[in-house]
Amino acid sequence: MSSPTVGVLALQGDTREHLAALREAGADAITVRRPAELAAVDGLVIPGGESTTMSHLLREFDLLEPLRARLADGMPAYGSCAGMILLATEIADAGVPGRAALPLHGIDMTVRRNAFGRQVDSFEEDIEFTGLDGPVHAVFIRAPWVERVGPDVEVLARAAGHPVAVRQGRMLATAFHPEVTGDRRVHKLFVNSLA
Ligand code: GLN
Repeated sequence: MSSPTVGVLALQGDTREHLAALREAGADAITVRRPAELAAVDGLVIPGGESTTMSHLLREFDLLEPLRARLADGMPAYGSCAGMILLATEIADAGVPGRAALPLHGIDMTVRRNAFGRQVDSFEEDIEFTGLDGPVHAVFIRAPWVERVGPDVEVLARAAGHPVAVRQGRMLATAFHPEVTGDRRVHKLFVNSLA
């Protein structure tokens, strides 16, 4: 069987780390900056970075509506941190009007931006992750948490009592950054779901 082609949204953020992680997880990974590139992928990773900037660039690059349409159509997607924020149906603390983070309506959830940030900007913690053998070393950087999940959303991991990894069908999101550790289990979970 041939490897799935996974795009990494490459407007801003830690694109390179996701490309490397996806390749190690067995995918053909390509960058996505144009609607034609988006149309060619079997699944998409939305990286960590800054969700407000990415939202602005999605509009500038004429990708916002095509991306919403592909997600509505069931394209598998994985978002880490800023990517989790964008995959939500609703964003709390989305930013100032006109420059706010824009929800892509992939996963039925409300995500609060910079939720941990008020207490502690960045931290690392070993957390249990449903479906993976053994804990994941989770790196949180100005991370969001999930405040509400819809009935079809599974919570896979929590930190400080809040959901920080969720799945709805073939859409996956983590508030932390597995792409910056050498552990490829989360990327494999996503890549294997595309087979
Ligand atoms: N705080 C960032 C945002 O709002 C997310 C941080 C990250 O991706 N590391 O998009």
